[in-house]
Amino acid sequence: MDLDLTPDEDAFRAEARAWLAAHVPADPLPSLETAEGFAAHRAWEAELSADRWSVVSWPEEFGGRGVDIFKWLVFEEEYYAAGAPGRVSQNGINLLAPTLFDHATDEQRARVLPSMASGEVIWAQAWSEPEAGSDLASLRSRAVRTDGGWLLHGQKTWSSRAAFADRAFGIFRTDPDAPKPHQGLTYLMFDLRAPGVTVRPIGRLDGKPAFAELFLDEVFVPDEDVIGEPGRGWRIAMSTTGNERGLTLRSPGRFLASAERLLRLWRERGEDPAVRDRVADALIGARAYQLFTYANASRFAAGEQIGAESSLNKVFWSEYDMALHETALDLLGADGETAAGEWAEGYVFSLAGPIYAGTNEIQRDIIAERLLGLPKGRR
Ligand SMILES: Cc1cc2nc3c(=O)[nH]c(=O)nc-3n(C[C@H](O)[C@H](O)[C@H](O)COP(=O)(O)OP(=O)(O)OC[C@H]3O[C@@H](n4cnc5c(N)ncnc54)[C@H](O)[C@@H]3O)c2cc1C
Repeated sequence: MDLDLTPDEDAFRAEARAWLAAHVPADPLPSLETAEGFAAHRAWEAELSADRWSVVSWPEEFGGRGVDIFKWLVFEEEYYAAGAPGRVSQNGINLLAPTLFDHATDEQRARVLPSMASGEVIWAQAWSEPEAGSDLASLRSRAVRTDGGWLLHGQKTWSSRAAFADRAFGIFRTDPDAPKPHQGLTYLMFDLRAPGVTVRPIGRLDGKPAFAELFLDEVFVPDEDVIGEPGRGWRIAMSTTGNERGLTLRSPGRFLASAERLLRLWRERGEDPAVRDRVADALIGARAYQLFTYANASRFAAGEQIGAESSLNKVFWSEYDMALHETALDLLGADGETAAGEWAEGYVFSLAGPIYAGTNEIQRDIIAERLLGLPKGRR
């Protein structure tokens, strides 16, 4: 692996940095987990998209710049270093889009991707159910064949952004008689405002309606919104989870920027040598994660799959994020306990990291069994 960026990549970095310096809002946008913040973030997605910074690695025909994964990583570093707003369209861009690139038809890509890039259509992931989280294959929501499409029945839960989003993607049981639970599932897209959909927001620890549960009663989905072959949804879903845990959901730029912020906080308020060591650990961790990600990106660019290694990423960033925020709160002392500022909010959200995108217990089992070849344990 060559660790130096090329002059072309450096020029790309400079261009991104200049654009962000001119456009990132001076004051932070309201939380995207509120109606007002959601609208403000949608407008930001449109601004990014107007100058083709919304999805830099996508082909130009869908609103991107067609750049490779290394330039995407460079862009992400600049994005977070500039303090730019969190991406309200991340479920669509990071999860559904790679799935569409791999499994959808040309017609579906042309229809879905441009409005995703511009923030006109914001997507939610509708996978989890009350009885199907870690054991996703036990999901019970059904899609039943009808003229020209399918009718959805059932309940989904913990669907991030669904309180304000436009559309959702999920997996549904289309063959209840299939011999194994992960067979007979179909991957499809549906409209959150279609007749038969009830969206009920779920309040989070911080009180914001970040999630929703979805109740589906004969919701019509046309055939054109089925991704891949009916009955083969599990295989497609597994390619989505690889993307979620692997390269795209948490790029190192985010943690490099957080570690720099922590360092600034230490310079303002730090005295305790024990906390100083934890600040140093945060900086080392961010750099280690960056290098590990560049190594994965090199493998990816060489045509390899990331596979079960994405579970290493997921465990690392989720534990890193909690440790970083705990260090910041220790530095802030009583101020951290009382202030509803970004560190306190970030800390509360970091607690969810070991749960979403597949819990860390499950990731550790995957690492043990598939990467280390250890015998099957609890399952
Ligand atoms: C912030 C956040 C956002 C989310 N966003 C979405 C979203 O947008 N869309 C969506 O569909 N879902 C979303 N989820 C749901 C998330 O994917 C599930 O919470 C997660 O998969 C765990 O499922 P569960 O909550 O049903 O817990 P369970 O599966 O019931 O697990 C409970 C506990 O038991 C452990 N456990 C279960 N099985 C095993 C096993 N075989 N071996 C060892 N330990 C085991 C788990 O690790 C966990 O600690 C989100 C969750 C959070 C917290």
